[in-house]
Amino acid sequence: RKADVECRMLVLGAGPGGYTAAFRAADLGLDTVLVERYASLGGVCLNVGCIPSKALLHAAAVIDEAQHAKDYGISFGQPAIELDALRTYKEKVVGQLTKGLAGMAKQRKVRVVQGTGRFVSPNEVEVQGEGGTQLIRFEQCIIAAGSQAVKLPNFPWDDKRVMDSTDALDLADIPKSLLVVGGGIIGLEMATVYRALGAQVTVVELGAQLMPGADTDLVKPLADRLKKQGVTVHLNVKASGVKASKAGIEVTFEGEGAPQPTSFDRVLVAVGRSPNGAKIGAEAAGVQVGDRGFIPVDRQMRTNVPHIFAIGDIVGNPMLAHKATHEGKLAAEVAAGEKREWVARVIPSVAYTDPEIAWVGVTEAEAKAKGLKVGVGKFPWAASGRAIGLGRTEGFTKLIFDEVTHRVIGGGIVGVHAGDLIAEVALAIEMGCEVADIGMTIHPHPTLSESVGMAAEVFEGTITDLY
Ligand code: FAD
Repeated sequence: RKADVECRMLVLGAGPGGYTAAFRAADLGLDTVLVERYASLGGVCLNVGCIPSKALLHAAAVIDEAQHAKDYGISFGQPAIELDALRTYKEKVVGQLTKGLAGMAKQRKVRVVQGTGRFVSPNEVEVQGEGGTQLIRFEQCIIAAGSQAVKLPNFPWDDKRVMDSTDALDLADIPKSLLVVGGGIIGLEMATVYRALGAQVTVVELGAQLMPGADTDLVKPLADRLKKQGVTVHLNVKASGVKASKAGIEVTFEGEGAPQPTSFDRVLVAVGRSPNGAKIGAEAAGVQVGDRGFIPVDRQMRTNVPHIFAIGDIVGNPMLAHKATHEGKLAAEVAAGEKREWVARVIPSVAYTDPEIAWVGVTEAEAKAKGLKVGVGKFPWAASGRAIGLGRTEGFTKLIFDEVTHRVIGGGIVGVHAGDLIAEVALAIEMGCEVADIGMTIHPHPTLSESVGMAAEVFEGTITDLY
């Protein structure tokens, strides 16, 4: 069969991984086609992930800040929330970015084909779109088809009151009561938004702490604040049975200290995401897909088929946009003939909750489990003039370093803007910095960034007063 479109590079999926790969490939001179099933580019991150959630979290922060302002003598009264206007604001933010991507694709002469793609051979993808089917023949391909929310099987998904993160971001209404199943990053970010908007929020988490993967000490200030704000958290508890009735969604729980069955106006299920590896006809191309739907790749993002690469959520955890973009760039460069590889050791994780929690590199728990000999420099924000001025002293910054070489190998920050501050620690690890290098670097005063310098100085034993 004759191909409808021929190209050097086909990128399947236009999320952060896919659009970055396509743009880089085009910049390196490869004739590139980008296949995306949805009308707008940007994938989960721009359309129903990172960006809309952060727009809503900003609104939540404004509400909290206004209420908090009483502490310094300013009163705004009760916030009046216009849900339609808030939704419009969120959509405007998303639209600005996705339109920008469409412009950037055009500028680079990346041909965007809308439709759902499936491999039909090692060099062909068939795309089913509104206008019919097109066969695209490629020399090389980058799979960037991402992931989707895990839908727990015993939940009544045809009932609109049961939501995944995409539904929750739609912001159909503000329920009186909301159950969030899953106390990870996505669940807690949405809990933060809905609580600020006025919902009574309950969180159940199967594990022994919120935000699995982060060190326990980093999570505590967030857990304390949620409690103070009236959010109920149940750890080691499973939402086991769910029944929809006219009055609400009736949920039963299992686990030690599990609450009695309770009825909620809405339930958000945020228990993780599963990769789309099994849904793209990979077998027709000979591309191996693991049991859980992840596609195995080497350090150059190559699958077992040398001219087919895979990147982003579909290749493994952590499922983060900045990991996907980095891998996208790498795959495009390797495909264009550059000799590059990458070992993913330093990928920052950030929960944009209030306070934010950010960590990178080795955690204290990992160091302990691996028997690594580490030192920790910890600086409490109660000693930061800037944090005191902001009325947010619950945070702290810690640096984790090799006890022998003193090289920084990890770090964690909890507090407002922790996500913006963690990049310095990531750079320190990548550059092989010793703790003293950070301590001797002049950080501007009075900023929260000083806390990174101070965490290094705590270790050096030369802590100075920050007031
Ligand atoms: P995706 O973004 O999933 O994109 C894949 C694209 O491929 C999609 O557009 C999909 O439509 C398309 N596609 C799939 N199959 C086909 C097919 N057969 N044919 C054509 N097209 C196809 N990460 C962060 O780093 N920071 C955050 O703050 C953050 N917040 C998040 C908040 C939420 C609520 C969620 C759900 C996720 C969040 N993430 C965040 C995770 C982030 O969105 C993902 O890690 C990122 O989008 C992964 O990028 P990707 O390119 O691998 O795939």
